[in-house]
Amino acid sequence: MFNHYNRDDLFSHARAAFIGMAVGDALGATVEFMTAPEIRAKYGVFKEITGGGWLRLKPGQVTDDTEMALCIARAIVRNQCWSLETIAGNFASWLKSRPVDCGDTCRKGIRSFMLNGTLEVPPNEWDAGNGAAMRLLPTALFSLPDEQLLKKYALEQAHITHNNVVSDAACICLGKMLHMALCGATKNQLRREVGGFVARFPTFEFEPYRGLATGYVVDTLQTVFHWFFKGSDFEECLVGTVNQGGDADTTGAICGMLAGAYYGMESIPRRWLKRMDKQVIAEIETLTEHLVSASPAGQAG
Ligand code: MG
Ligand code: MG
Repeated sequence: MFNHYNRDDLFSHARAAFIGMAVGDALGATVEFMTAPEIRAKYGVFKEITGGGWLRLKPGQVTDDTEMALCIARAIVRNQCWSLETIAGNFASWLKSRPVDCGDTCRKGIRSFMLNGTLEVPPNEWDAGNGAAMRLLPTALFSLPDEQLLKKYALEQAHITHNNVVSDAACICLGKMLHMALCGATKNQLRREVGGFVARFPTFEFEPYRGLATGYVVDTLQTVFHWFFKGSDFEECLVGTVNQGGDADTTGAICGMLAGAYYGMESIPRRWLKRMDKQVIAEIETLTEHLVSASPAGQAG
């Protein structure tokens, strides 16, 4: 598949995807819910991990985006297999732990699991927030490079809280791009993949870019695609993305996983890495190693 990174490259890019996601979350959270003009007025260009924001975070602290992805990753690694019950159970324990933030649709889905054991919420045309896409990275790592497995895992975890055709389409597209980037696809190959996706789902068209970065998954992916293809390194992609404001921790997390998968560890600015919670990064490294080792690509040796 694609340019065939060797095994070490694959593991290193997978680590960069997961750490990149946490970095994007921690970076963007400071300006979450600000508008782009508000960010410009206050910071010029916002580009440091400082904490604060509406959640009053510590510098480098991550939010629900990273925490929910960790719930999925821990469930897979602990069970050594795919177990939706364990994932939902981890979401429930996480919600009970009074997390710093949790989206309404996620909360509703997790409550429904806690009350009735529901592992799939009913289809809902309004549940097109970005809660399912923001946390799917572990499913992309564990399914590498099998597209059918990816689809199954990505959508099953999604439907615990979000059962919506637009969210589903976003999850499948993002998962596929992560697979491609992790396997060494070029930006032109990734751009062609997104082109095909936009032809099937024109609502995701991001050229010309409309500049919206709400919690709606369509706006989220448009923002991520626009800045991922415009940027020429990890920092440019991330800075462009979070300076759009809105759901900046989530656009940051998604752009961070994609840019990390594509550019690799060396591209993540050291000054950002140094700000991150050491324990979170250490756990991410261990989980990533296990997820990729247990994937079809990892098992193939
Ligand atoms: Mg968040
Ligand atoms: Mg958010």
